[in-house]
Amino acid sequence: MPAPTASRTPRILVVEDEPSIQELLRGNLEVEGYEVATAGDGLPALDIQRSAPCDLVILDLMLPRLDGFQFMKELRKGGDEVPVLMLTARSEERAKIQGFDLGVDDYVTKPFSILELLSRVKAILRRVNKAPQETGPRQLRSGPFLLDRERMELRRDGARLEIGAQGYRLLEILFLNPTHVHRRTELLKLAWPPEGQPGLRTVDAHISLIRKALGSEKDWLATVGGAGYRWMEPVVPVPG
Ligand code: CA
Repeated sequence: MPAPTASRTPRILVVEDEPSIQELLRGNLEVEGYEVATAGDGLPALDIQRSAPCDLVILDLMLPRLDGFQFMKELRKGGDEVPVLMLTARSEERAKIQGFDLGVDDYVTKPFSILELLSRVKAILRRVNKAPQETGPRQLRSGPFLLDRERMELRRDGARLEIGAQGYRLLEILFLNPTHVHRRTELLKLAWPPEGQPGLRTVDAHISLIRKALGSEKDWLATVGGAGYRWMEPVVPVPG
């Protein structure tokens, strides 16, 4: 099995059977610049880890068939030492000791703060020298628009467009995953801290501001079936 190298984007395997949590984790990790693989149960997760090893596994304890502990046993039996961050419910506190015996590196208790989880992920990867060199491309281009992720601004033909910090964050999420329809609840979770989540209408208000700034290309940021928002045009990373 080839060992993952530190030079490329760290890959994270999310093993979680609850679709909304799986999606929340995937979205946030991708925004942070990680490559993400997902599985809803221990068995497919083992297959993924054996065929294309990840640098870290985020593992839910309660899974429908092969649960977190069984997954750990199988994983370590096969000699795979990948670090594992386990998700447990508060009622499963006692299970933590068993998990440490099986080689779990760290725990996060549900319901968790996504920011705390991301910092644990970073800490583990730093410990094993797999922290990202940089989190994804520094600039993204779509038509005349350039999203500068260092300056946190949107430019059109070189001129800065006023979309505000929160508008920037929303647009960055849409640019990083342009084929995906982002539900408003998902955008709320991704773009605002868990302790300060406004109502869904705030998302709509920021989206209208962005669309206004896009001018004649306002429809590039489309409302999809009343369900959410999507960036309609291709996005490419700018080299260098
Ligand atoms: Ca579960």
